[in-house]
Amino acid sequence: MASSNSKSTNETARKIFKILLTNPRIKVSWIKAHAGNIGNERADQLAKDATQHGQPYSHTKLPKPHIKGLLRKRMLEEWQTSWKNGDTGREIYNAMPSVSLRPTNWIREDVFFFSEHGPFPAYLKRFHLSDSDYCSCGGIGTPLHYATECIYTVSWHMRKPAPNFEQEWLKRVANNLVSRHKIRGIIKFISENRDLFRPH
Ligand SMILES: [Zn+2]
Repeated sequence: MASSNSKSTNETARKIFKILLTNPRIKVSWIKAHAGNIGNERADQLAKDATQHGQPYSHTKLPKPHIKGLLRKRMLEEWQTSWKNGDTGREIYNAMPSVSLRPTNWIREDVFFFSEHGPFPAYLKRFHLSDSDYCSCGGIGTPLHYATECIYTVSWHMRKPAPNFEQEWLKRVANNLVSRHKIRGIIKFISENRDLFRPH
């Protein structure tokens, strides 16, 4: 099919196309493999020979879509490695360890929660926007605190992760629609009731 396409980007296909064009007496047909057809046996033999003694393909001669696929794969591998070994955005990494070209469906509230950069006392203190990282309930005001402990957000609570299983927990929460809905509820509630969460 590629050989009969005058616009094919495959060099071999284009060569065949030209040969067929200048040699109208050549006919192309499908034949059964291993049926003792001399020409076909010879082609098999040459192909086998090429895999053992042939020169490797130069990359520039490979079909464009194939090169694109190779580059995309390599790019994703490099991106994944630097995302895994990087030292910024580690909060996001915990919830989303695999890179992907598909857009995430995160909204503002999700970003606040998973990046830990949002209306949380622990964040405000860390960035010198507040003197205390305490929640008004007496606990430390981290995103996890609001998702699992705080008395003001009980209606959206989720089960607390076991120690050392925070990353698993975050991944599960990020991939679960019900949990994501709860997260959004918490963030909206905190944002709309800032005074309630300021330590007295
Ligand atoms: Zn609290």
